[in-house]
Amino acid sequence: MNEREAGSEALLGLEAMAAAPVVSAAPARPRVKPVDRSQLTWQMLDVERRIEPEHPARAIWELVGRLKLDGFYAPIEAVEGTAGRTPWDPRLLVSLWIHAYSRGISSAREIARRCSYEPAFQWLCGLGEINHHTLSDFRVDHDAGLRELFVQVLGVLSSEGLVSLERVMHDGSRIKACAGADSFRREERLKEHLEAARKQVEAMGDARQEEPTRKRAAQERAVRERQQRLEQALEEVQKVREAKRADKEQARASQSDPQARIMKQSDGGYAPSYNVQLSTEASNRVIVGAGVSQSGSDFVHLIGAVAQVEANLGKKPAQVVVDGGFTSRENIMAMAEQGVDMIGSLPEANPSSAGQQRQRGVSEKFYLDKFSYDAQQDIYRCPAGASLTAKGREFCPGVVLHKYVAKAEVCAACQFRSECCPGNQHHGRSVVRAVHSLEVRQFAEKMQTEEAKAIYRQRGAVAEFPNAWIKEKLGLRQFRLRGLVKVRLEVLWAALTYNIQQWIRLSWRARLAAASN
Ligand code: SF4
Repeated sequence: MNEREAGSEALLGLEAMAAAPVVSAAPARPRVKPVDRSQLTWQMLDVERRIEPEHPARAIWELVGRLKLDGFYAPIEAVEGTAGRTPWDPRLLVSLWIHAYSRGISSAREIARRCSYEPAFQWLCGLGEINHHTLSDFRVDHDAGLRELFVQVLGVLSSEGLVSLERVMHDGSRIKACAGADSFRREERLKEHLEAARKQVEAMGDARQEEPTRKRAAQERAVRERQQRLEQALEEVQKVREAKRADKEQARASQSDPQARIMKQSDGGYAPSYNVQLSTEASNRVIVGAGVSQSGSDFVHLIGAVAQVEANLGKKPAQVVVDGGFTSRENIMAMAEQGVDMIGSLPEANPSSAGQQRQRGVSEKFYLDKFSYDAQQDIYRCPAGASLTAKGREFCPGVVLHKYVAKAEVCAACQFRSECCPGNQHHGRSVVRAVHSLEVRQFAEKMQTEEAKAIYRQRGAVAEFPNAWIKEKLGLRQFRLRGLVKVRLEVLWAALTYNIQQWIRLSWRARLAAASN
């Protein structure tokens, strides 16, 4: 091609370009870093720096290290200089459980999982891997050791001036058991289930005859545990029957957790539960006593709670503040006898009190205060003018109940009968005069004073705080373990964790802040 031809071809090309429609260039794709999962890498891990200096796990480790753990070390058979498996240090296992509870974790499997990736758990166990069976067994194997630990932590708090027994608030709270309401059965049905469970155990044969697989061993253990629970449920049915004086039809026990009892909840419903009793000192809201009961009634626990505080700290509380569930006359008398100042609200116990009469449908015009008492003749006169004469006395703790009755024929002919004693067809109207003991009268007088009322108003904020904390922050809204002994241990772990958190807040953090200034 000569120069002329080449020039005309280039000209043709330019014309073609001018004739073609204009196409805009595609925008460039954003450039981002690719993810490369095909690589192998090593990482430097400074275990000590996995958590910051002010992390509460360090405080837990420090405090547990200051305590005597003899009860936990005693069962360890391995000794230095000999062969065999080396168990984990109880100081570590205690610290792990305390830290776990403080995070609302109460599952051994979950702790074992977190030890593999969560910094505080990794720091505590030094990147070691702990089997969940080890953790699970440790939680329930040290009843005496744990109680001793609770007392020691109280000793630490007390030595730092954080515990005062001048005023202790005591309260009860129902926590749901590890059992459903539909697991409760009557005696007959429990016997049927037990028979079936026994046959199942027999059918398993002799475990020593063959090498059990892991799965089979677990299945056999589950069947045997079920048989034990059913045997225990039959025993508990008897106890329920005796306690409630119930007949065969009414008495029932849970086949999941035989020692749980149906209790009223704060929302008004009913559920299988245990009654958790906590004594909290008022100065720093430290728990100074913790217990668990199968009884839904609170008043039966106060005397034991005061004794436990004394056992834990070496002296009784000077003053104990409780709600109406605890202020029975028995408790008023017992506290007075022990020299403990009791503050509470006194419930009505006179069968002729306004509340009781309202329940019976008595018209307000015929309440006890409308009857006049003649001390000289020891008789009452009703609003219609009839006499009610003395008819025996009943001696109860802190009170003597004097009964007065009108003549049946007089009331039968009275025009006010339907308003005065409705439903009473065969007897005359009766009223009761309650003569309280000196201690009860002094208690009632004290509770009329502004000072006592002001102290009582503080009760809710102090007494209900640890209960709410344990449920909301530590996650103990339902027990994970079954049976009174294990449930008590769960409560002890939670109360211990709560107190250690109080120590971290009131002492350890303050010390850390002072050191950094
Ligand atoms: S019913 Fe009996 S006690 Fe009541 S007002 Fe009449 S007479 Fe009196």
